[in-house]
Amino acid sequence: MPDLTPLPSNLKALLDRLAQLSPRVVEATRIAGELARQLDMPVYLVGGVVRDLLLGRESVDLDLVVDGDGAAFARGLADRLEVPLRLHPTFMTGELSTPSGCRIDIAAARGETYPQPASLPVVERAALTEDLRRRDFSVNAMAIPLFSRSHRPAELVDLFSGHGDLAAGFLRVLHERSFQDDPTRILRAARFELRLGLRLDLAAEELVAQVVAEAVFDRLSSGRLRQELSLTLASANPSATLDRLAALGVTESLHPALQWGTAEQDRFLRLTRILERSEVEQREGKGRVALLLTAWVWDRPRSVRNDLAERLQLPAGARYLLVEGIGRIAEASHGLLTLGPRNLAPRVVSEKLRHLSGDELLLMHALAEGAGRADAVEPTPAGWAWREIAEMRGLQLTISGRDLLAIGFQPGRELGRTLEEIRGARLDRTITAEEELAMARQIFEQSEERRQE
Ligand code: ATP
Repeated sequence: MPDLTPLPSNLKALLDRLAQLSPRVVEATRIAGELARQLDMPVYLVGGVVRDLLLGRESVDLDLVVDGDGAAFARGLADRLEVPLRLHPTFMTGELSTPSGCRIDIAAARGETYPQPASLPVVERAALTEDLRRRDFSVNAMAIPLFSRSHRPAELVDLFSGHGDLAAGFLRVLHERSFQDDPTRILRAARFELRLGLRLDLAAEELVAQVVAEAVFDRLSSGRLRQELSLTLASANPSATLDRLAALGVTESLHPALQWGTAEQDRFLRLTRILERSEVEQREGKGRVALLLTAWVWDRPRSVRNDLAERLQLPAGARYLLVEGIGRIAEASHGLLTLGPRNLAPRVVSEKLRHLSGDELLLMHALAEGAGRADAVEPTPAGWAWREIAEMRGLQLTISGRDLLAIGFQPGRELGRTLEEIRGARLDRTITAEEELAMARQIFEQSEERRQE
């Protein structure tokens, strides 16, 4: 159960606390508070930042709810922070990012008009309540006023007992149809559980079982399913998050290809270990997600993978890796095995693997024949894939065409073939970098001799 930190007693103390915990959001919060006062517009910090403040954790993003003309407030804030603003008038929201990397979402608490002064507090409270009621969990439905007529600055607005739930370590939904309204909340819950050490309460778990039985994920749009799945795969410990979702019976109900068990855990483990190696160019964001998703469904038939790619409407690169990449890797592995990888010259192997992308090679090393055995060194296909990644693909000759021209070669095909030949010798380690020029001279002399004969 998390230990909660006491809420700061006033706005200044709140800003001081944010400055300690979340330096990236404090400046924007201070400016938002000043602007709210100047515009005489109630503005609240809501959602994750409030939760994180109580948990004593850093927040990188800010969620603001404005009671009034949200667009005017958003424009004013963007002006003061001197950053561009994206407005979504249909949803009455605005979005901006500060140079320090803090994303700010501004929502206008909906449904109100400009009310009479006497009724302001009531309307303000109603508007805020409306906004908080739409949120996912009680711990994410708390607010702190930066400026308000009905609440003191820095006073916690907690209409759904979020504070108590946070102290008890519970994720509780605000009403019984919450997961039917938005099943992505289940995936959010699994991420919050892992990241924040919270746990869905029993009632919420039962609601999950109910919506899973109703196949509620089938109603989710491709875009939202893809987005939530990507966030899950991009989380700090995707394997543990998926363990939890599998225990809740969720993974397969996202799509039949997405069964999750020990084989899938093992594939994730092998792949993530490799992605952490210093020789591997770091894969962040979408690239990493596509790799994990492909490892997840590695042994499913192509038709099933294709169906998954359709369901998620994957972008072209991720789709190709998932649908075609696995087959291309299998084919390359099979090719090496048929030739007998033990007796193959590196240059021949490199030739065979040349058409594979960097991502395909990583998957081949992590998951193909021979992977997982004593760090997968050649002569297995997985081992060859590693040598291709770490050594062969990036091998640069120390000499270039210009050096060959200086020796006497004429521009043309022979010059290209000679460079290829020298590269092959380097791959086979029959010459060193220092011997490249000597080999070039030797080839030149031999061809001169042949010409003179
Ligand atoms: P994180 O630290 O992961 O950013 P967060 O709680 O700030 O956590 P966001 O996705 O940025 O998560 O969402 C901000 C707030 O918007 C949440 O705290 C929650 O109140 C609300 N929210 C987000 N997604 C949903 C949803 N699917 N249903 C209801 N409320 C949501």
